[in-house]
Order: sequence, then structure tokens, then C-alpha cells
Amino acid sequence: MAARTLRIGLIPGDGIGREVIPAGRRILEALPTSLGLKFSFVDLDAGFETFKQTGVALPDKTVETLKKECDGALFGAVSSPTTPTKGYSSPIVALRKRLDLYANVRPVKSVAPTPAFPDPIDLVIVRENTEDLYVKEEKTYDAPNGQGKIAEAIKRISERASSRIATMAGEIAIRRQKIRDTTGDTTGKKAMVTITHKSNVLSQTDGLFRATARTALEQQRFKDAGVEIDEQIVDSMVYKLFRQPASYDVIVAPNLYGDILSDGAAALVGSLGLVPSANVGDGFAIGEPCHGSAPDIQGQGIANPIATLRSVALMLEFLEQEEAAARIYAAVDGNLAEGKLLTPDMGGKAKTEEVVDDILRRL
Ligand code: ATP
Ligand code: MG
Repeated sequence: MAARTLRIGLIPGDGIGREVIPAGRRILEALPTSLGLKFSFVDLDAGFETFKQTGVALPDKTVETLKKECDGALFGAVSSPTTPTKGYSSPIVALRKRLDLYANVRPVKSVAPTPAFPDPIDLVIVRENTEDLYVKEEKTYDAPNGQGKIAEAIKRISERASSRIATMAGEIAIRRQKIRDTTGDTTGKKAMVTITHKSNVLSQTDGLFRATARTALEQQRFKDAGVEIDEQIVDSMVYKLFRQPASYDVIVAPNLYGDILSDGAAALVGSLGLVPSANVGDGFAIGEPCHGSAPDIQGQGIANPIATLRSVALMLEFLEQEEAAARIYAAVDGNLAEGKLLTPDMGGKAKTEEVVDDILRRL
């Protein structure tokens, strides 16, 4: 079989992004040739450093190259300026918009049982990424009778966006069940999508999200695959997520709730340096570790590369390279299970490179 070549854009950005994205490239280059995959790479600029040098945080060339040449990409992190900086806005937010990456997917998986969470946590949050309060249509005006100011924001929910995000959540649930079936999973977990909303208060906006997501998940192919539909009001979702995280599989949420739930869920499993994400659209995915640019540890060679390596795997899943993805997850799990070569955030003493070397050996 002729090897398929995937072209991957590498956008390290700022801070430790420059230390972990090279690790992502190394693991792709180290995948066994028996998988029938090859990779080519293109280095692309974005971030606060780029902004300081050129006046633009996200050069058009980066967007055009991704659109025209690439199958997928890896994004490191961007520093946000500590004081408001004229003309600067987050390049990853802009990239999501320009490439219509409408989903932010964040798997959260525990390393080992703890007294608080004896059962394995293995869930994924699928956050809608294009609308809700993030349409950023805000205004401020004077209240009548001089009673100060009033500020308002639009919360926009559409059937189209709600339907496609729920459909993606259903597809992820099917894929996860397949992986559980093929790896002889013993947790007894079932494919389930939990729709998160606050339709008891916001009956129109969240009501539309809830109803549309439900309709999307009632598609026959999800029924046939045994995907259960569950729902939670967002406040009780938070409570249950922290009380019994092991009972969740896929959680789908509008933009703002998804944002909050994702960071909260990441806290359940220890270091930010472990948690991956992907920004996904139709036929394109950007893997992105959940952590930021971590200026406090930058340049020391001690950043945990695992969030990035898992983001590489997640990107591969959305490029339909499940086998390659599974190899990476297994190699990372092997490193964590042995627990000998860990970076300082995990209580170890290893350097980024040593952890990567260990994981590559396990591929
Ligand atoms: P930014 O503004 O870019 O988000 P930040 O100062 O908020 O930067 P984060 O990257 O969000 O920093 O990280 C928060 C904390 O977690 C930092 O103390 C950082 O050292 C630690 N951390 C984050 N990522 C990693 C990693 N990959 N390895 C080790 N420690 C990490
Ligand atoms: Mg941060």
C-alpha cells in the first residue's frame, strides 16, 4: 500500500509552545511505517511574539497555508499581553473562526485511581465554538434617571450550530465505544451523550440548543450504535461532574458552559500539562494542548509534553487515523503508568526531551 502523506502545519506560538510543538513533530515522525502514513511539515507563525515583530498576531499567510496545503495542524500556545494592547487579539480565536473550526473537543482522562476518584475518569467535553455569548455583541448605555450604566450581551444559539455540534458528539461517542470494544474495556461504560443547558431559565436560547441537540442525537445511526441521550442542567452538571466524573462519557455544551466545564474537568486529573484539545471543523483539525504559554517555566526544558502528544493523537483521530492515534495514547499511558520519567509538574525530575524519548521508545 502506498504511504499516505499528511501535511501538518506547526504553529508553536509563544512560551512553552516552542518547546512542546517540536515534541509533537517528533512523535509523528516516529510513528511506525507499518501504519502506511507519512508526514510533511510546514512551520507557521502566530502569537504575541509575531505581533510584536510584525503588528499582526495571525498573519494571512498562516491561514492561507493551512487552508490550501494542510490536512491538519498543531498549535502551541499564545501569551496574552498583561495590559490591553491595541490591535492585538487572540490568534487562536481568529483561527477557529476563519477555518470554521466549530467544535472544541477536550478529553479528560485520569492517570490512576485516587481516594477521591477511585473509578477511572474518561470523558470528553464537546464545546460549541462559534456562537452563544462569544458572538461578542455587547453594548453599554446609560440607565434612565442617571442610575449608572447598563451593559448587555447577545447570547445567540442557532439550530445549525447546535445540530452539528451534537452530531459530532454522537460520532465521538460511537468512536469511543468502538475503542472500548476493541481494547477489551472492563469499566462497563456505555456510549452516552449528556446535553448540558440551562433551559429552565433560558427557555428560548438554551431551549433551542437542548431540543436541537436531542433531535440530532435521535438520528437512527446513533440509536443503532446504542448511544444513549442524557441531559443535565449546567449547575447540576458541575456538581455531578465533580462528584461522580466516572459516570460521564461525552458531554456536549454551548460555548460558555463548555468553556467553564472544560477547565473544571481538567482540574479533576491533575496537571494542565496532561490535557489535550482539538479544534475541529469539517475535514480539518488543529490539536492544541489546554495549557497556555506558561511563562514561569519557559526556556527551562521542563514543560510537560504529554498534553501536546495527546493533542497530536486527537488531531489524528479527526483525520481518521485512529490506529496511529491509539499508538500514541498507549505510549503516553505506558509512560504515566510506569511513572519513572515525569516532568516536575507531575512530581518528577525529567526534562521534556527525556519524557518524549521514553514515549517514542514505547511507540
Ligand atoms: P497564559 O497566559 O499563556 O495562559 P499562564 O501564566 O496562565 O499563561 P498557563 O500555561 O495557563 O500559564 O499555566 C498555568 C500553570 O500551569 C503555570 O504555573 C505553569 O507552570 C503550569 N503548566 C502549564 N502547562 C504546563 C506544562 N505543559 N508543563 C508543566 N507545567 C505546566
Ligand atoms: Mg493560562
